[in-house]
Amino acid sequence: MIAAMRPPPSPPHPTHHPDVDLLSRHAAGTLADGPALVVATHLDFCPICRHQMRAWEALGGALLNSQRPVALADDALERTLARLDGAQLDDARLEGKRPPADVPALDPDPVLPPALRRQRLGPWRFVAPGIRGRAVRVDPTQGYKVMLFRVAAGMAIPMHGHRGQEYTCVVDGAFSDVFGRFGSGDMAAVDASVDHQPLAEPDGDCLCLIAVRGRLRIHSLLGRLVQPLVGL
Ligand SMILES: [Zn+2]
Repeated sequence: MIAAMRPPPSPPHPTHHPDVDLLSRHAAGTLADGPALVVATHLDFCPICRHQMRAWEALGGALLNSQRPVALADDALERTLARLDGAQLDDARLEGKRPPADVPALDPDPVLPPALRRQRLGPWRFVAPGIRGRAVRVDPTQGYKVMLFRVAAGMAIPMHGHRGQEYTCVVDGAFSDVFGRFGSGDMAAVDASVDHQPLAEPDGDCLCLIAVRGRLRIHSLLGRLVQPLVGL
């Protein structure tokens, strides 16, 4: 049977990546702990960005620290993508991460990617109906709050804006907002000009890591009521 000879499909790799500036600052070690953890989580999922990071690390930390990020070619990521077109995920750590379809999603918690397993995590707390969150403890003097959110299938995070940057990496499941669909490993970075309402997909809970600088501007009454509880 020809169909039986096909290799099993490789896990999909992310389609939303940190931009070149963010990735190069991560390589140079100049990001604050919050966004650095979000980028590190993306790297656990993304062979393309890991490849780019290794290329920069080969240049040497001293060289990276002596150059402005703009010194790196604007098309560096695109050229890497082209080289790796069709590449298979070379990291089997994430294979089998998803539970079988007949097991309730995220119950128990999925295996966290390595970057998160090394963190000090607070207990899960109620945030709003269908949403729970747990703090990821980072240096508070750097201005970022970092949380893991579990959003039940089909639920929305309240419509909100930002007073500073918000960095997100999906750890399990998927959500959609005005910028598209974000699945496992996908990363988003939005600034203070953006209002959005991420919506978990209907076929499973969404677990995502979020680092926020400054307080959110939450538009819904419910969101404003729970905001003090979660400290965002
Ligand atoms: Zn990537």
